[in-house]
Order: sequence, then structure tokens, then C-alpha cells
Amino acid sequence: MSESDILIVGAGAKAAAIAAKVHTINSLGLGEISMTVIEKTEPAASWLGRNGMTSGEEPLAIPPIKDVGFPYQSSRQFGALGDEIDAALLPLTWQRFAMERHEYATWVNSGSPSVMHRDYGEYLGWVLERATEGVRIYDGRVTEVSLSDEGDRWQAEVAERGQPEDPERHTGRILVLTGPGVHRHFPHDPEVESRVFHCDSRREELARVPEGEPVEIAIIGGGESALSALVFLRDLRPQARLTIYTPTLPLSRGESFLENRVFADPDNVDWEHLDIETRRDFVKHCDRGVSLASDGEGALLEFDSPSEGETAQRYDYVVNCTGFDLLRQLRGLFPDGVRDEVEEQCGPLWDSPPKFEVPIGRGLELEGVRPRLHIPGLGGLRQGPGFANLGSLGLLANRVLQPLLEELEVPTAPNSAKMQDKSLLLD
Ligand SMILES: Cc1cc2nc3c(=O)[nH]c(=O)nc-3n(C[C@H](O)[C@H](O)[C@H](O)COP(=O)(O)OP(=O)(O)OC[C@H]3O[C@@H](n4cnc5c(N)ncnc54)[C@H](O)[C@@H]3O)c2cc1C
Repeated sequence: MSESDILIVGAGAKAAAIAAKVHTINSLGLGEISMTVIEKTEPAASWLGRNGMTSGEEPLAIPPIKDVGFPYQSSRQFGALGDEIDAALLPLTWQRFAMERHEYATWVNSGSPSVMHRDYGEYLGWVLERATEGVRIYDGRVTEVSLSDEGDRWQAEVAERGQPEDPERHTGRILVLTGPGVHRHFPHDPEVESRVFHCDSRREELARVPEGEPVEIAIIGGGESALSALVFLRDLRPQARLTIYTPTLPLSRGESFLENRVFADPDNVDWEHLDIETRRDFVKHCDRGVSLASDGEGALLEFDSPSEGETAQRYDYVVNCTGFDLLRQLRGLFPDGVRDEVEEQCGPLWDSPPKFEVPIGRGLELEGVRPRLHIPGLGGLRQGPGFANLGSLGLLANRVLQPLLEELEVPTAPNSAKMQDKSLLLD
């Protein structure tokens, strides 16, 4: 049992970024914030290659210098103290991590190449080991999330490994839910089920693809998980022919100055006030109009081609990398009564279609829900595309912490920060 200010489900990238900020604020003597993280597998489990979704050797699709503090512009949220906080974060940077491993100079001299998921996971674990002031990490799986009897705190039931019948309970003034979600639904005939893999299929499952044969595999999607599946399959089954289906160029969000700027600093383009279509276009990575039928021997991929219109192509296997559905994963954590209570406060949520604009506020919380329920991964469309991935972990942590710091009377200066935002826009 623990009681803290912040309760986080999952010790991954977002938890590491928030832990780094909490540690720094506490170490500087600016506040006494307490934070509990519950992790069901191991810290950075999604990245290390021991837990299924990656082999660990696939390339990270962003440069690791976009680390837990990036973009280091905390003065926008916290005024002058923000600069102090950013400076104190330097011991937790990617650069410091690589220096400690005596790999920094080699990495820079070789042109700062992409790093593997495993390297990134080791970095996150290293941060979580060092970000200790006020931060505790518990081993266990959150099985249910509910409200305290007084309705002023979130509480999480946690089944410890080896003792699932004797759950622990942890509470927090605010709750932060992390993780990528589960794969988005992909329409297909039941007969081709064994030929379909998903972005979150365990890597061992892909071994079903026969070895040494020229099998045809279609990968649907052009984002990070498609890249990850492509690299993994190319090494696992070099004889396979891989075809990618995506409506835009693969990883088309690229690394252009404009796109990077929007990821790191959505206020710079006044993201919240752009029209919904512009925002949707920006975040769109997945495919449209693709479905799978059976043709007896293989899977018939039906799709909309710009040159040929509706057409079909036969494949032995298909990998669905059309994206993740975070709500589908979260629904299972909330009992019916709590789900109803959340919807009473923020409007229809749990059964919304995938492209629905979730009402996520500036603190990356579900708008109107009290106590605050932060789900940064759902904030891409409403608050900025970097919140659904690793593009702006430092800003994400600031946005989550800002309202709490105000409540705890940590001396930050949000009003002057807002003024700065406005003057930047005018620039
Ligand atoms: C294969 C792959 C590659 C990706 N590559 C990139 C990339 O290169 N660049 C990029 O910007 N984004 C990438 N992404 C997107 C990425 O998923 C998100 O950016 C990332 O998930 C954000 O971190 P997080 O903290 O929300 O989740 P994670 O880092 O995934 O951490 C979530 C943690 O929660 C734990 N957990 C889950 N459920 C429970 C529970 N009930 N109880 C306790 N613990 C639980 C998990 O074990 C995990 O450790 C990739 C995603 C995938 C799947």
C-alpha cells in the first residue's frame, strides 16, 4: 500500500520522463512531490527485447538525444525556475548515459547513427535507477483502477508477481496511464487468422513464417512499428519478399525542421486551434481501406490503389501495423461503474471510434475528470503529435506536472510562461 501525489501505471518512457522531473524538482528543494510507478514486467520492458514486442535490435525511429528532458524549454511552463530545472536534468541525459558507457565519442564520430530499442531501454532503466528523490517503483500488474470512497484519489489494485490472490492497493492524487495500447482492429476473414500478425504480436510468433522459402509478406502501415516489423522480418526470414502498404511515404513525418518543431513544441503553431482536418493529416500514419479475405491458400489483401482503384493481391502472411488503440487496452482496467463516472464528467469515451478526438486538456488529462486522469498517449490529436510517442518527453512531463505543482504551491510561474508562449507565436 502506498499513498502518493502521482500514481503511474507502467515504468516506460513516459514514467521515466516524469520521474526525472520529479526527482529534479525535489532535489532542488522546490517541492516534496511523491510518485509511485507500478510496472508489471520490468522497467523499460517495451524496449529491452526480453518481452515480446521487439527483439531489442530494431532501430529506434527517433534520435536518442530526444531524451527524457527534450526539448529543454521548461521556462515556457515554469518561468525562470524552468531553466534551473533543465540544467539540473543534465545528469540524466542520453549524453551522460553514453559517456558513462564510454560510447559517446564513438557514437558522435560515427555520425550519431540510429540506436537500437535495447540501447534506448537501457537508457530508460538507467534514468529510473537514478531518479529516486520521491520516486518509488513497485513490481506488479495493475489489474483494476477505481476511485477512493471519498472520491478524491485514484486507487490501483496491484497483483504482485507470484501472489496474484493477495493484491496490493496504491493510491494517488492523480493517475497517469502509459503504454502504447493494443493493435488496432484489422478487418479480416476468420479463415486467414493464422496468416495475420499485428504490431504487438510477440516476436516469437513471427517464427511461424516458414524458413528458407520465398514467402510473400505484406506489412500494412508506415510508422515506427511497421519499420520495426520490417527490420525484424528481414533478419529472421531473409528469403521472404516484403511489401509495405502505406498511403504516405514510410515514416513520412520525417525529421524536417517544421515537423520536429511541431513535435517538440505544439504551441509554436498554436496546435490546439488548428482545424481538426489539419491536425488529423499531420498525425495520420496508418493505412486506409485495407482488408483481408481468404483465397483458399493464402490471404487476399484488398486495397485501394491510387493508380488502379480497388484491387487485390495474394500474400502468405500479413502484418497489421496500422496503429495502436490505447482506449481498448485501458477499458479493461476500469470497472463499469468507474467507466460510467468518467463518462459523466468528460462525455462519451470508451466506445468511441479510433479517430475520435478524445477530450484531452493541456495537462494531458481527460477534460473535466476529477481527480485528474492523465492519458498522454491519447493527447496526440488535441494537444500535439509528440505526446503519443517519444517526440517530446520533457514537455509531456511538464504538462502533466504543471497543474499539480500549482496545487502543491511549488513556486512556478505559469502565467508569465503563457505570456512567453504568446510572444513566441508573434515572432
Ligand atoms: C515496436 C515499437 C517501436 C516504437 N518505436 C518508436 C520510435 O522509434 N519513436 C517513437 O517516438 N515512438 C515509437 N513507438 C511508440 C511508443 O510506443 C510510444 O512512444 C511509447 O509507448 C511511449 O512510452 P510509454 O511510457 O507510454 O510506454 P512504454 O515505454 O511502452 O511503457 C509502458 C509500460 O507499462 C507496463 N504496463 C502495461 N500494462 C501494465 C499494467 N497493467 N500494470 C503495470 N504495468 C503495465 C509495460 O510493461 C511497460 O513497461 C514505438 C512503439 C512500438 C510498439
